[in-house]
Amino acid sequence: MRIKFWGVRGSTPTPERRNSRYGGNTSCVEVTLADGTLIILDCGSGLRSLGRSLLRRNGKQPLRAAIFLTHFHWDHIQGIPFFAPLYAPGNVFQFHSVQHRELELKAAIEGQMSNPYFPVDMSVMRSQRYFRELNAHPVTVGRAEISWAELNHPQGCIGFRVEADDAVFAYATDTEPGSPVHDRNVRQLARNADVFVYDAQYTPEQLRGEKKGWGHSTYEEGARIALECGARRLVMFHHDPDHDDAYMDRLVLRAQSVYANTLAAAEGLTLKIARGNVEVAAVSGVAAESEGNGDGDAAHAALPRGNGTKRGQNAPAVSLVSR
Ligand SMILES: [Zn+2]
Ligand SMILES: [Zn+2]
Repeated sequence: MRIKFWGVRGSTPTPERRNSRYGGNTSCVEVTLADGTLIILDCGSGLRSLGRSLLRRNGKQPLRAAIFLTHFHWDHIQGIPFFAPLYAPGNVFQFHSVQHRELELKAAIEGQMSNPYFPVDMSVMRSQRYFRELNAHPVTVGRAEISWAELNHPQGCIGFRVEADDAVFAYATDTEPGSPVHDRNVRQLARNADVFVYDAQYTPEQLRGEKKGWGHSTYEEGARIALECGARRLVMFHHDPDHDDAYMDRLVLRAQSVYANTLAAAEGLTLKIARGNVEVAAVSGVAAESEGNGDGDAAHAALPRGNGTKRGQNAPAVSLVSR
């Protein structure tokens, strides 16, 4: 399983020089299985770069992808009108949403392209699009089994757990701790995950203060969950628009002092889970633009599983962005 981050910023895109190492695009994560199955989690502004990359990689071959949206806040859907593969005939996309919300999903996607918000409507998109309702049972996509759970966020949100290729990837963004049901749900998603992506938008001080109730969390809570649930890698995600690269560097150090196996997501960061290893490729946001530069030439750190240490502990702390 290969996980690549195309958008890691929370709330709004921040195309600023001071953010450029971690990246300014909003939530979008690509998951590629060993058999080539393509899964896309969230469609923030990072989706645009993913689309360009897919067209380059795929050439004229038709493209098929399963798209899972956590919720419909702008920062998770705003990349859809700019996702070039949606405009090409022959491509097939299956959008997924929770029970009874498939109409909302369709409306949310089509609505942002309606008059007066966008120059053309969705009818100019020539790809085939299907909308599928998620129920209590996991969804099978290729060889992946994907389950979901509700998170604690204004207007609702869901997190996903992708199991495939003998690997577990948990994705829980846009959630605030403190609701027992939702706290349990996050732990269900994270249990024994190889990679656990978690909302770390705020500092612990912010969450205790003025940011309480906004529906986001901290690295501190992420570390607590990872330790409790045996998640091997915690990946801080949904970075605050005001947390620039220098600030993020300090936040990552704070997080690693609580849980050493912590990284912060950055545009272009690629994680490969294979044969029990999580391999981390650290790249800058610029590299994300040019697929091919990203995976090979950046600093790598292979992190062995079961190296005689307790699961989730004592593995080397990894610097996440190339400097
Ligand atoms: Zn968000
Ligand atoms: Zn949100």
